[in-house]
Amino acid sequence: MQKRQVYLDHGATSPLREEAFEAMLPYLQDKYGNPSSMHSSGRDARHAVERAREQTALALGAEPDEIFFTSGGTEANNIAIKGTAKRTARARKKKGHLVTSSVEHHAVLNVCKELADEGFQVTFLPVDRYGLVSVESVKRALTPETFLISIMTANNEVGTIEPVAEIGALARERGILFHTDAVQAVGQLPIDLRDLKVDLLSLSAHKFNGPKGVGALYVRRGTPVEPLYGGGGQERGLRPGTENVAGIIGLARALELAVEELPEKTRWLQALRDRLIEGLLGMGDVVLNGHPSSRLPGNVNVSFNYIEGEALLLGLDLEGIAASSGSACTSGSPEPSHVLLAMGLDHQIARGSLRLTLGRGNSDADVDYLFTVLSPLVKRLRKMSALYPGQG
Ligand SMILES: *Cc1c(COP(=O)(O)O)cnc(C)c1O
Repeated sequence: MQKRQVYLDHGATSPLREEAFEAMLPYLQDKYGNPSSMHSSGRDARHAVERAREQTALALGAEPDEIFFTSGGTEANNIAIKGTAKRTARARKKKGHLVTSSVEHHAVLNVCKELADEGFQVTFLPVDRYGLVSVESVKRALTPETFLISIMTANNEVGTIEPVAEIGALARERGILFHTDAVQAVGQLPIDLRDLKVDLLSLSAHKFNGPKGVGALYVRRGTPVEPLYGGGGQERGLRPGTENVAGIIGLARALELAVEELPEKTRWLQALRDRLIEGLLGMGDVVLNGHPSSRLPGNVNVSFNYIEGEALLLGLDLEGIAASSGSACTSGSPEPSHVLLAMGLDHQIARGSLRLTLGRGNSDADVDYLFTVLSPLVKRLRKMSALYPGQG
């Protein structure tokens, strides 16, 4: 019999949905024209890309000319942060100050560290035990030199939803640009750019059942941002290079459907998430990481005391369950996640973290199966743990 496969790692990537795949298919086969070409095949591709831009804008409450397609969330973040830094530094003839948080994805954190190495001033704000950035702390960090605030909409590890509406209002009031990495939020939370005071927003298709390697940066009209590399004039010069036509079409279709299905999906996903959290906490010596209520509908992050997250992952994988731990295994020794450490967890608890991210296709049966596998696994690992009370 085929072993049961349960995918609980939608925060890492999500399966491509059928409708997006079907919309992409013609552009991977017969409709291969370059959108920059004058002939009819090229014009067809151009129309398809522009239609996708309109769909994407509509789904977010933006205008089509505010959407710039990129190769994913990482590139969108790079353009948003380095692009505004370069432009502002040139206009003001000095390197200014930017504010970010200590729980950002590496695609923001490392970009900000790079800028710090280049002489920009960077504030990495602390968070509370739930991973929340306080608006007060943002306000206190601002200086006359601050040109950009970059705070994520929702955290990829612990699911905490940040107060981006309030931070945006503060930024607007002070005349400071506001970027948000919304890669985990788009398609998971309602986002309307007509209400949010956001100048730049990053998204990535593969996090909402679209294809990998394609994303977008929303740039509010009039926001000063410079391209990071030279090339042709694609994406109005901000992101030159021949467009990923099929990917862009897949992104737009997946986004359109995700937004349409959002209210319904949020309901069942939250119910499944809460059932999962309740069951996990019932196992004992387990703590929930992240905010108890202000969290992504599909995110569960817990720490098992006395256990290594890696051991759990391997044990689950043997039973066909795909999950994630907070730590990144570099050179053999698992480093606890920077997010959990910023939240004040001690190393031992941080290393016992397990992230289960639910999404499209998951059901109660998956959660049941997880419990069936996890309970004996946790017992076994704790028995082997030298840290567990009563052990050697
Ligand atoms: C996945 C992710 C990214 C990176 O997006 P890619 O499209 O994989 O480059 C950036 N930020 C957050 C919060 C993410 O979850």
